[in-house]
Amino acid sequence: MRETDAKRILIVYTGGTIGMVRTPNGYAPKEGYFRAALDAIPALASEEMPRWELREMSPLLDSSNMTVNEWNEIARLIAENYERYDGFVVLHGTDTMAYTASALSFMLENLAKPVVLTGSQIPLCEVRSDGRDNIITSILIAAGGAVNEVCLYFGGSLLRGNRATKYSADGLIAFVSPNYPALAEAGITIRYRESALLPKPSGALRLQLLENVPIGVIKVFPGIQFELFESIMTEKLRGIVIETFGAGNIPGDGNALLPIIRRAFANGTVLTVCSQCPQGAVSLGAYETSGALKRAGAVSGLDITTEAAVAKLYYLFSAGYDKEGVKARMERDLRGEMTV
Ligand code: ASP
Repeated sequence: MRETDAKRILIVYTGGTIGMVRTPNGYAPKEGYFRAALDAIPALASEEMPRWELREMSPLLDSSNMTVNEWNEIARLIAENYERYDGFVVLHGTDTMAYTASALSFMLENLAKPVVLTGSQIPLCEVRSDGRDNIITSILIAAGGAVNEVCLYFGGSLLRGNRATKYSADGLIAFVSPNYPALAEAGITIRYRESALLPKPSGALRLQLLENVPIGVIKVFPGIQFELFESIMTEKLRGIVIETFGAGNIPGDGNALLPIIRRAFANGTVLTVCSQCPQGAVSLGAYETSGALKRAGAVSGLDITTEAAVAKLYYLFSAGYDKEGVKARMERDLRGEMTV
């Protein structure tokens, strides 16, 4: 690390494939190894790179083990170091990266610096690792200062974090943003799509930590027996994301679901309707099968991803809104997560 460059970037390493090593039981993160892995990338010591510092979380996680506790830890680290750095790179496993990116986007209100999540499909310890470009380009984006939001860089594209979804389990272009254009493409140069970027906010950064609110995701399928879900929907969960067919359609005209939704809403549970189709929006009322959902108290998630809907429910309930407050905000765009 050199002292001469003006820009300072904080790299937060949370775990994930990028820093994993081979073990007899398959790839796993190893405490204390990652610093040496970064030092072995000559470009990171180049004169052209900004200054960066590394914080390693403990324990390092396969991202399938992420919980709201880790989201809180990452968000707190960013908020506490907000004035000391120009941008932040969060190295994270790909499996739940879109959830973490979504959560951070809601938790960090008035964010006016880049927070870039990245990782890799192949660990840095392997010769074909995609992690090297992902880290180098993410650091440059974090130092570039063009974005004021939580985003996800992977395989040459910079995506809005709460619009991204993991699309490939083994391809090097692992993420897509089906309902919003990429914020930038990294070719020979990094080309930003200015019109797609969120404007710089004026207020001070505000951190909202999350609570472990009981949230559920239900995917409808032909023949679904809603009565089997009734007690958890009406008594246990506070936020429900229901992944419907197409533009918001439910088997059986939703008739079996309607009384459950009414009872759930009366108990303080907010149900958001998303689509199983990655691309396009829910339009409650476009078909007979979906209009009744809205009348029963369900919220239209429009074109929000399931990841962002889950994170938004955590955020709104943690912020203390009652069911009407949560419902109203689930229909509203807060951080560029939906097209209203
Ligand atoms: N299971 C890994 C994780 O999410 C996969 C990856 O990083 O690509 O931590």
